[in-house]
Amino acid sequence: NRSKLVVANRKMHGSVPDNHQFMQSLLQQTQHHHARYAVCPPHPYLYQAQHILQNSHIAWGGQNMSRFEKGAYTGSVSPVMLKEFGCTYVIIGHSERRQRGHDSDESCGERFEAAIKAGLTPILCIGETLEEYEQGETDLVVVRQLNPVIAHVGIEALSQGVIAYEPVWAIGSGKAATPQHVQAILSFIRGHIGLLDEQVAEKIDLLYGGSVNPGNAAQLLSMPDVDGGLIGGASLIAEDFIRICQIAN
Ligand code: 13P
Repeated sequence: NRSKLVVANRKMHGSVPDNHQFMQSLLQQTQHHHARYAVCPPHPYLYQAQHILQNSHIAWGGQNMSRFEKGAYTGSVSPVMLKEFGCTYVIIGHSERRQRGHDSDESCGERFEAAIKAGLTPILCIGETLEEYEQGETDLVVVRQLNPVIAHVGIEALSQGVIAYEPVWAIGSGKAATPQHVQAILSFIRGHIGLLDEQVAEKIDLLYGGSVNPGNAAQLLSMPDVDGGLIGGASLIAEDFIRICQIAN
């Protein structure tokens, strides 16, 4: 039983003083925990995260990155740059980016590969829309999103990343998926990976994200295939996020 991984996806929120308070509280109040934590602030604050969190038990990461190392890509950030600011993780293919047409399944494969090459741990987000959920297509969708990444990087490289199952309908809606649904899908994902390599399937961290809060975290995190959580809204208030960390620990 490995330790849980809890990641704060702060999305486009925060400010220098707010980040400071958030990260300092998290540092102080989770000191001797064995669970693993990471904070993903907007890119301009990575330097601040590095400054506050370096040499601590808390990692940090980016919320997105280009698949390219450098070039004429206005507004993009490269894997090497994230690495230069000490990032351990990078979120890839979040549904908020997929929905805006930024991240195709294909490009997620390329980004995943570029992240690993740069020494980052990609957190690949996958998950179905409400319509797909209602049609009972969740399994199909997660396989459709996962397969191009596996095809692109190979099963061995996949194990160097993290997969976050985030049903689109549960994100920011206040309606988390039931622990039973989450368990069924994560177990399905593990099984799918296991068809290719059982050791990778066993080893890979599978997270759940979507309206996780201090009230539902215990049940969700206690499911056997849930290795941790990707936390949006509840990572905006230090007390809420720390509470989830205490539960995960
Ligand atoms: P919420 O926790 O706000 O539902 O967001 C989840 C998410 O998108 C994390 O990446």
